[in-house]
Amino acid sequence: MGASSAEVRVLSNRPVGPGCFVLTFERAGISFRTGQYLSLGIPGQREQREYSIYSGEGDPQLSVLVREVPEGLVSRRLAKLVPGDGLHVDGPFGYFTPDTALKSGGPLLFLATGTGISPFHSMVQTHPHLNYTLLHGVRTCAELALEEDFLGENLVACVSREDGAAYRGRITDRLKDLTVPPESHAFLCGNCDMIYEAFDVLRGFGIPSDRISTEVYF
Ligand SMILES: Cc1cc2nc3c(=O)[nH]c(=O)nc-3n(C[C@H](O)[C@H](O)[C@H](O)COP(=O)(O)OP(=O)(O)OC[C@H]3O[C@@H](n4cnc5c(N)ncnc54)[C@H](O)[C@@H]3O)c2cc1C
Repeated sequence: MGASSAEVRVLSNRPVGPGCFVLTFERAGISFRTGQYLSLGIPGQREQREYSIYSGEGDPQLSVLVREVPEGLVSRRLAKLVPGDGLHVDGPFGYFTPDTALKSGGPLLFLATGTGISPFHSMVQTHPHLNYTLLHGVRTCAELALEEDFLGENLVACVSREDGAAYRGRITDRLKDLTVPPESHAFLCGNCDMIYEAFDVLRGFGIPSDRISTEVYF
């Protein structure tokens, strides 16, 4: 499945939570494996950035979940897009895919901060009967809007800066209290501080590093 380059039309731009939006655009025949990402930019402008694919493998359109970074070059441009606008798409790229884990079995543990929940959304859309637990770390309760399509029974929301969710605290603190079977496959996505810390906790649980996959956003 090779990477391609295409100019497509934006179909919708839907706000979800503070400063975040789901951008949906034409698929243009692009095939991908769930967990991969695309490189996006405005046609005619040189700068592009990577975004995990939010939609499922079988969906007719492609979507990404983006947080608008204040002072950010590309995310602010993407935030302004409206239906009918052009979008430059390269990809898909990446190896953050659950294929090996699905073949060998074992429970799946997903850890995400902020929009790092995006590839897991794609995985759950693609494989609706997935056996997973998702720990999602956000700063405020308003950001829990990013979890709208996940089932409550599989999801542990960790809000670090205010009360109001099932768990008040950092995702890595919640992880330390979890019983994680050593045959689990772990997928970590989001900011690098969480990923480094969670990696060490998981190794401490006896999970070998070849069963810990990571996707660092920044
Ligand atoms: C493989 C991969 C997949 C990614 N998938 C997603 C995704 O699905 N959704 C998504 O929103 N982002 C994702 N990112 C991050 C994204 O590629 C951009 O880095 C982000 O949108 C900022 O780009 P920008 O041009 O707006 O900011 P820039 O102009 O590049 O950066 C401005 C400043 O913001 C800081 N910064 C960059 N990213 C963030 C951030 N997320 N939060 C806070 N500060 C930041 C930079 O360090 C810099 O100081 C992914 C990154 C990678 C490598």
